[in-house]
Amino acid sequence: MTAPAAHLAARALFLDRDGTLVHPRHYPARPRDLVLYDGIAPGLRLFQRAGFRLVVVTNQAGIARGYFGEAELAAMHAHLTAALARQGVRLDAIYHCPHHPDGAIPALAIRCECRKPAPGLLLRAARELGIDLARSWMAGDILDDIEAGNHAGCRSVLVDLGTEGIPSAAPRTPAYVARDTVHALRIVAAVEGLGPETGLSYLPPSWRDGRVDHANRCVEPLGTRQGATRRTP
Ligand SMILES: [Mg+2]
Ligand SMILES: [Zn+2]
Repeated sequence: MTAPAAHLAARALFLDRDGTLVHPRHYPARPRDLVLYDGIAPGLRLFQRAGFRLVVVTNQAGIARGYFGEAELAAMHAHLTAALARQGVRLDAIYHCPHHPDGAIPALAIRCECRKPAPGLLLRAARELGIDLARSWMAGDILDDIEAGNHAGCRSVLVDLGTEGIPSAAPRTPAYVARDTVHALRIVAAVEGLGPETGLSYLPPSWRDGRVDHANRCVEPLGTRQGATRRTP
């Protein structure tokens, strides 16, 4: 298949779901478990107006673990889509990974290519929606999101929920770090010339040891440091 010409390809803002769009919760399984952060709709609408596709990419290992099924997930995502639509935000797609190597459902207990930090969900979205990954962004609250975005060729912004240690290597290092999702949207808007300057040099308090430069890029491999906190959804 021939890739669409760059000037015709869409740009995307890829968004993690849990902890990035909605308040973090342990294995949310019902629609009402997904509660949008306040104040994120205006930023999302700005990207939508600027022609960015809004694409959610989410690990849902709860399916492999047997905590809930595809039907429950579809109901949750209908709820999420409707909650955003009420605020004028239209999601272009939601892609999820139902797998986990330790899953209880044999067919889903695999080492797949779509569970973040692998970039499979973003690559699939790019194929199906004609997205130019190099002009797209990934926003997420853990370094596995960042690694997936970087691997796919996107720029990345980490939403600091206080869970992530300083990145252990360049592929896990975000281009920017944000205080929260509203700030993350402002950062991307500022870098893209869609919004005013904002704090681009924010770092999580635990990272402020001079080993990440002002553009928040890793200045040296940090392999001897403890890496990110690995979490399992
Ligand atoms: Mg998350
Ligand atoms: Zn998967």
